[in-house]
Amino acid sequence: MGDKKYSFKCMEQNCENRVCCTREHVDVTLGDLSRWSAQGYLPHILPGLTLIVPESEDEEMRLETSRRPLKDREDTTACVFYHEEANACTIRYSRPLSCRTFPLRYNGDKFYVVDRDCPGIGKGEVTKESLKGARETAEQEYRERLETRAALPAIYTVIVAQMVRRSAEAMQSLSDEDRKRIEEILSRGQDDSAPADTGQSTGA
Ligand code: SF4
Repeated sequence: MGDKKYSFKCMEQNCENRVCCTREHVDVTLGDLSRWSAQGYLPHILPGLTLIVPESEDEEMRLETSRRPLKDREDTTACVFYHEEANACTIRYSRPLSCRTFPLRYNGDKFYVVDRDCPGIGKGEVTKESLKGARETAEQEYRERLETRAALPAIYTVIVAQMVRRSAEAMQSLSDEDRKRIEEILSRGQDDSAPADTGQSTGA
């Protein structure tokens, strides 16, 4: 951020475009989970989170808030915690760190503004303290984001391994008759997913 005069004040319900809530990814960190847990909010917030599992080696596993389409703009999705009618965040006082630092971000080297359309830019006080506070929040978000991306694959592996073990244990405790029934259902599912023989040649 070459601009030392950066200042920001959230326009809250008077915000005209809510670019913070419609941005592509609303990152959630392990630090957010830990803060929500300490506040007792985790059970309420957890259903609104999504773990993005990468489909290729170029992608990273990430934890984000879930999305839903806006009623006013169906081609746009917003964070699930955004309340469209109220033009407000329903978890405002416990929002993720990535929302607290928005639109300022740090990349380990420099600070930058991620979206110049945010109407809060230039609205706050321009003091040394406010700039220091904004930078500290952005640096903390950067550290937590890196830590989370490094830890998520390991956490995911542990959870999947535990699920596999539990389902194996559940299968063991089934009666022979129930196990046979499940195997029948599963083999039926496989038959259903096989391409139907239409008797027509594709000519390939
Ligand atoms: S958590 Fe709140 S502030 Fe952050 S993107 Fe979602 S609705 Fe907006």
